[in-house]
Amino acid sequence: MGLLSIVVPCFNEEETVEIFLKEIQKTLNDYDYEIIYVNDGSSDDTLNKIKELADSNSNVKYISFSRNFGKESAIYAGLKNASGDLICLMDVDLQHPPSLLPEMIDTITNEDYDVVAARRVSREGEPKIKSFFSHKFYKVFNRITKMDLVEGATDYRVMTRQVTDSVLQLQEYNRFSKGLFDWVGFNTKWIPYENIERAAGQTTWSFWGLIEYSIEGLVAFTTLPLSISILLGTVFSIVAFLYMIVIIIRYLLYSDPVQGFATIMCSILLLGGIQLLCIGVLSKYLEKTYVETKNRPIYIVKESNIGDD
Ligand code: UDP
Ligand code: MG
Repeated sequence: MGLLSIVVPCFNEEETVEIFLKEIQKTLNDYDYEIIYVNDGSSDDTLNKIKELADSNSNVKYISFSRNFGKESAIYAGLKNASGDLICLMDVDLQHPPSLLPEMIDTITNEDYDVVAARRVSREGEPKIKSFFSHKFYKVFNRITKMDLVEGATDYRVMTRQVTDSVLQLQEYNRFSKGLFDWVGFNTKWIPYENIERAAGQTTWSFWGLIEYSIEGLVAFTTLPLSISILLGTVFSIVAFLYMIVIIIRYLLYSDPVQGFATIMCSILLLGGIQLLCIGVLSKYLEKTYVETKNRPIYIVKESNIGDD
C-alpha cells in the first residue's frame, strides 16, 4: 500500500487533537500516513495545538479556515488536499475507533472493494429521542429518494483515490456527504462497530441542527415534496369543484344556499395553510438554487502548511 491520508475535521477540539494523534501513531506504527487536520474556524486553541503537533511531526498537515464553514466543507477541503493513494475520513473525538483502521486498510487493499466504511450498530450513550428520529430519517430518506443509505452509516471510511476524485467532482455548495458518498456508487464494504462516547469535549450538534441537516439532505436528493404539492393542489381543486356543483344544485332546486360561517372559516384556514405549506416547500428548493447559483467557494483557507515542504 502507498500513502494513507487521514482527513480530520476539527471544530473547537483543543482537548482532542493530541489524543487523536497519539492513538493514530499507536495504531498505524507500520504504515506510511499523513494526517490532515482541517481547522474549521475554531474559536478555542485548536489551531495552536495542531501547529505544535505539526512542528514536531512531519506527518501532520493542517488547513485552517477563515471562519466556521461546517463539517461538510471541512471534509471537502481535506479530501481536496489529500495526496494519498488511500484516503481516510475520521472524526477527531475518537468516536470513530482507530482500532478498526488496520482491518479497513487490509480489506480495501486485498479485497475487491473501493470503499470500506464503518457502520454504528448501537447507539448507546445517545438520547432515545435522537435515535428514534435518526431511525425514521433513514427510512423516509430511502423511501422517497432513489438512494440506499445504510442505517448508522458514518463518515468514517477509507476510500481509493478514484472514489475520492469522484466525490470531489461533485462541487455543489450544499453538501450532504452521506448522500454524496452513496451517489458516486462503487463497491462498499460496511464494518459494524459499537457506539463510543466522545474522548473529551462536547458535540456541536443540537437537536434542531440535526433536523435541519435532514431537511437539507432531502432537498438535495429528491424533488418529491414538489410533486406532493402538485398532488395536494389537484386533490383540493377537484374537491372544491365538486362542492361548488353541490352548492349550485342545492340553490337551484331548493333555493337553499349553504349557510355557515364555521364552514367558510374552516375551509379558508385549511386552504390557506396548505397554500403556505406548498409555498414553503417551493421556497426551500428556490433557496437552494439561489445559493448554488451564487457559486461561492465551499471554504476559504486562512493558513495551511500543505505545500510548505
Ligand atoms: N466538526 C467540524 N465543523 C463543525 C462541527 C463539527 O469540523 O462545524 C467536526 C468535529 O470537530 C468532529 C466531527 O466534525 O471532528 C464530528 O462532530 P461532533 O463530534 O460534534 O458530532 P457527533 O459525533 O456528535 O455527530
Ligand atoms: Mg463526535
